Amino acid sequence: MLGRTRERIPVIGMGTWAMGNSTGEKHQEEVEALEKGIELGMKFIDTAEAYGEGRSETLVGRAIRDVRDQVFLATKVSPEHFGYDDVMRSCEASIERLGVKYIDLYQLHWPNPRIPIQETLRAMDDLVSQGKVRYIGVSNFSVEQTAVAQESLPRSEIVSNQVRYSPSSREIESELLPFCEKGKITVIAYSPLDRGDIPTSRIPNELLKKYDVTAAQMVLNWVTYRERVMAIPKASSMEHIKENAESVDTRLSQTDYHALSRAFE
Ligand code: NAP
Repeated sequence: MLGRTRERIPVIGMGTWAMGNSTGEKHQEEVEALEKGIELGMKFIDTAEAYGEGRSETLVGRAIRDVRDQVFLATKVSPEHFGYDDVMRSCEASIERLGVKYIDLYQLHWPNPRIPIQETLRAMDDLVSQGKVRYIGVSNFSVEQTAVAQESLPRSEIVSNQVRYSPSSREIESELLPFCEKGKITVIAYSPLDRGDIPTSRIPNELLKKYDVTAAQMVLNWVTYRERVMAIPKASSMEHIKENAESVDTRLSQTDYHALSRAFE
C-alpha cells in the first residue's frame, strides 16, 4: 500500500533516469522495455522533469499511451521550480510531455532550503485539489525535512520518500527507514542495483541456488524485504526487464535476509 492510502502499488517498479539521453534509435528500445515491464507487472514508473531535460517523460508518455489507466505514474518537480507559480508551470509541462490528464505521485526531487517548503507544498496541495495530482511525495528528504513537510501540508499527506537504498548505500537503515515505517510513509528505493554495479561476489552461492535467482534478483529481493520499501530499478534491456519483473516472485526467508544483510556489511 502507498503511504496510509488504500492504493496498491507493486513492490518492483521501473526507474527511467538517463532514458532519453541517447540517440533516437535507442529511444525505441527504451520505450519497448517500459512496455514489456508494464506487461510483466511493473506498473509503477518513476520519472522526473529533470531527466533528459524532459525527454524521459516524453518516452514514458509513449510507453503508457494505450495503458495509462493501468500504470501508476510518478514524476518529480526540480528544486529550482519550488516557487508557487513554478510548481504549477512544471506540473502542467510534465502532464503535457507525459500526455496524461493527471500524475499519480508528484514528488519534490530534492530539498531546497532557499524556498519556504510551505509555499511549495501549498502549490502541491492545490494541484491535488485541482485533480492534476493524486498523491504528494518527497525525495532525498531527511527525517527532519520529511517531518516539516508533513506538518506543512494542510489537507494532504506525504505518502512517500524516494531515497537511495542498495547493498552499498544503507544509510537510511539507522533513522529514515524506521521513521518512515512508523509514520507509514512508503520508501521508494532508488539505484537499488547500485547503478549496475551489483555486489555479486558478496552473495553466497548457496543462496542463489536455493532460490534459483540471479544476483540482481537477490539484491532486489533484499532491498524490498521490509514491508514499507519498494524499488525502482532502471533497465533498458529486455533481459534485465524480465529478470527484475520476476525478482520477487519468491521472497527471502527472515534468516536468509539477515544473512545477506551481514554479507553486505
Ligand atoms: P539502478 O536501477 O540501480 O541501476 C541501473 C543499471 O542496472 C543499468 O545500467 C541497468 O542496465 C542495470 N540493470 C538493470 N537491471 C539489471 C539486472 N537485472 N541485472 C543486471 N543489471 C541490471 O540505478 P539508477 O538508474 O540510478 O536508479 C533507478 C532509478 O531510480 C532511476 O532510473 C531513477 O528513476 C531513480 N533515481 C532517483 C534519484 C533521485 O534523486 N530521486 C536518483 C537516482 C535515481 P540496462 O539499462 O542496460 O538494462
